[in-house]
Order: sequence, then C-alpha cells, then structure tokens
Amino acid sequence: MLAAVYKGKKNIEIRNIPKPEIGDNEVLLKVKACSICGTDRKIYEYGHFKIKEKNEQILGHEISGVIEEVGKKVDYYEKGMRIALAPNVGCGFCEVCRKGLEQLCLDYNAFGISWPGGFAEYVKIPEIAVKHGNLVEIPKSLSHEEAAVIEPLSCCYNAYESLNVRPGESLLIFGAGPMGILHLILNKHLGIGMTIVTDVDEKRLKLSQGFGADYIVKSDSGIKKTIMSLTNGIGVDNIITAASVPEIQEEALELVAINGKINFFAGLPVGKEEIKLNSNIIHYKQLKITGTTGASLKQFRQTVKLSQNAGCNLKKIITKKIGVEELSTIFEDISVFNNNMKIVVSFER
Ligand SMILES: [Zn+2]
Ligand SMILES: [Zn+2]
Repeated sequence: MLAAVYKGKKNIEIRNIPKPEIGDNEVLLKVKACSICGTDRKIYEYGHFKIKEKNEQILGHEISGVIEEVGKKVDYYEKGMRIALAPNVGCGFCEVCRKGLEQLCLDYNAFGISWPGGFAEYVKIPEIAVKHGNLVEIPKSLSHEEAAVIEPLSCCYNAYESLNVRPGESLLIFGAGPMGILHLILNKHLGIGMTIVTDVDEKRLKLSQGFGADYIVKSDSGIKKTIMSLTNGIGVDNIITAASVPEIQEEALELVAINGKINFFAGLPVGKEEIKLNSNIIHYKQLKITGTTGASLKQFRQTVKLSQNAGCNLKKIITKKIGVEELSTIFEDISVFNNNMKIVVSFER
C-alpha cells in the first residue's frame, strides 16, 4: 500500500509498504480521507515524545474510511461500514479512563502518533481500540471528507461543553485559523447568538468570511473599544482563544462580560506558558475559565450525531484536497497552510 512514512524531523518518504495483516480481534480500515492537523505540522517540524528518534511512523489522526476486513472474533463490525475513527485510546483501567476521559489518560495511544495513522491506504485497528468503540459509524449524509473533520470538530465540542454555552449568548473567537472557524461553525449550528471572529492576520480574516460570523475584526490595540461598542459596553458572554498567543489569554479577561466564560483552547508554546492574570477581574466579574484538550469518545460520538444534518456545513471548511504522495513536500510550503482552511488527504480522487 502507498504510505507517507515519517522518518524523523522534516523527513517524510512516500513509499509502498506491506498492507497490514490483522489478527482475530482486529479490524482493517481502508482510509478514504485524512485531514491534516496543526499537530501533524508540529511533529514534522519538532518530532513527538511518543515517536522515538530513528523510529518511523505514519502520521495522520483525523481519519475516515470503510471497513475492509474484520477479524474472526470481532462482533458487530462488518465489511463495508463507513467509519470515522476516534484517534485517542486510553488504557481503560486508570481513574481518568474510568471517568470517561480517555483522551487525558497518561498511558494513552493514538493513531498517527504512537500507532500508524491515516496518511496511508490502510490502518490496522488493534483489539483495544475495537473494544473501546473507537470505530464510529457515520451516516450516509456525511461524506468521508467531512467525517475526517469530525475529530477536530469534536475538540471544539469539548470546549463548547466546558463553557456550557447557552442559546443566544454571544461568542468571541480569537484566531481565524481552521480551529477558530470550526468553533464558529459548531456554535452557529448549536444556536449561539452574536459571533465575532478576530485575528491579527488580514489574510486569515479574509479567508474566514462566509462561515457566518456576524463580525470579523482585526485584533489590534483598539480591540477592546471595538468589542465594547459591538456589545453595548457589556463585553462578550463566551470567549475561545484558538491561537497560541499568550497576550490574547490576558486580553480575554478584559473583553468578557460579567459572569462570562473563557476557554483556553489553544496551548501556548513552550517557554511562553506563563501569563499575567488579573485575578481580581476573575473574582469580581465572577468569571469561569476552562481549558480543554482533545475530546472524549463520548464527545466524538456526539459530534458525529450533531454534524449529520445539513445545517452543519463542514464541506466548506475543506479548501484543498491532496493525494498522499504530496505529503512529502507539503509541510515545507507554509504558504499552502496560510492560504487554506482544512487540507484533506483524499484517497478517493
Ligand atoms: Zn487533530
Ligand atoms: Zn487510562
């Protein structure tokens, strides 16, 4: 099978490797689409602690496909089932897993990181992932390309749940990249009120048009004035920081309404993770600040359900489709990522 094999920092080789063989309790998934995540770009640049140096790996964790083969002892799953794959698999035994938060398990595995991922024609699904239910059936109304975007959308849904967003509330999203826009799509779909998207980059702001934001504003020194005038001086009910910039986390406290909520969605770069927080603002405005990372299996399944009707337009965010052979060079070309929302590796072309 054709695969994009990651061989270490800045080195991906396209080559033919043997199709995986499955055991009695495993499943073979034929990949139809796998979207590129910021994490894939990070691994390409800097490596990952779960991928030992000199070890090869197939990246890609935003995977959809069709079941090709089912092990003799596997119940329920059948050849031909259309699937979105939840990539994170917890140990299943620790306290965190028992709370249903397997994505936070310290002993986790993930497709495209510790296990071979979706930048290849086939992915073997190990027994533990089959038994945990990581193979999630998708409805016909969802294309494979849209299903690949379920994974990042499920991370947005985790943020949505943590904020306890109420219908009609207002929302400010820092960051007009693919994740920021997925937050916008999700919250619009689930009944948010006024939405504002902000970014420092004019080009990104332009790209973010057409996804339903009520206001798209440039993030500059006048941002507070702009937001206050858009909200009658009240501030915004919900703020999501979807860019890895320390200053916006500090700024969010100034822009949020009394009794408002903030989600620190994007992590900060190593060495820049200490920020200045005016704790009295949190106290006197009675704020709620949450952090989220990844999504639980339950949230992943819920995201499949909520995206299946036409009101959730995921198609639009996929602005580029490439073949697996293009993965050897695409990460070198920053402009491709600057000029696009989601880029999907398609095996259906
Ligand atoms: Zn991802
Ligand atoms: Zn665990």
